Amino acid sequence: MKRVLLLGGVSEALAIARHLGPAHLYSLAGIGRVPTDLQCPVRVGGYGGAEGLARFIGEQGIDLLLDATHPYAAQISVNAAHAAQSTGIACWALRRPAWQAGAGDDWREVADWAELIAALAPFRRPLFTLGREPLQHLEEIPAAQFWTLRALDTCPGNERCEVIGARGPFLLEDERALFARRNIDVLVSKNSGSGATEPKLQVARERGVPVLILRRPPLPAVAREFTAVAEVLQALAAAGLLASP
Ligand code: NAP
Repeated sequence: MKRVLLLGGVSEALAIARHLGPAHLYSLAGIGRVPTDLQCPVRVGGYGGAEGLARFIGEQGIDLLLDATHPYAAQISVNAAHAAQSTGIACWALRRPAWQAGAGDDWREVADWAELIAALAPFRRPLFTLGREPLQHLEEIPAAQFWTLRALDTCPGNERCEVIGARGPFLLEDERALFARRNIDVLVSKNSGSGATEPKLQVARERGVPVLILRRPPLPAVAREFTAVAEVLQALAAAGLLASP
């Protein structure tokens, strides 16, 4: 029986993991929730870089690496591509298509934190939806700004920043209420491409609020790339790795 190592961390990966039998392995970094109702075993924690992952692939007799990690989790994707290459197995990847700006959107792409802070200067009440990174910069918040920072878990902010702990999916009505209540004048976001976090973009459009988008990191080339869970399941089934899609 061939063995798949599925690298996860997003909802699509969990959807794939639900179709994997006990011969396969589902791998999580250990930041989010760990499912306990899967047929396949779940491995939690890092491998110690590409070399550690390659060693694990050899020890466990893995035949296929399936990278279904977040589009901004570039390190693990690079490690996966290197480890697959050095062990001579294939690496497939599920890559979420990016959101595209449409009519009425005012999206401004930024490359990194320095560009983001410069682009943020004219605004007063940003909503950050980048995860925990902005927490490292709370002492740098200009006197004219008040930040609302949404992350998976709540934690202390300071006099110029409130941290909200919340996990998607987020409802349009709730996002509308959040923007209105906090008088948000700019949204800061990754381009995650996830439907679960997309309503905030519609609210920004409705309210004429600009969106500062952190550019996606480049990801390595892999043997096969998919954009949807159903495509991955079909390919796994065609390779004899699933009973049925
Ligand atoms: P990252 O920078 O690419 O990875 C950092 C390290 O975490 C990796 O080098 C690896 O450690 C370990 N790791 C990451 N994913 C793993 C997995 N599926 N199984 C085992 N180890 C894993 O990733 P990140 O941005 O910190 O994100 C961590 C996890 O959260 C990822 O799995 C990602 O899918 C998920 N996530 C990330 C975001 C985001 O915005 N970045 C959002 C939602 C979910 P070793 O080098 O020791 O192997």
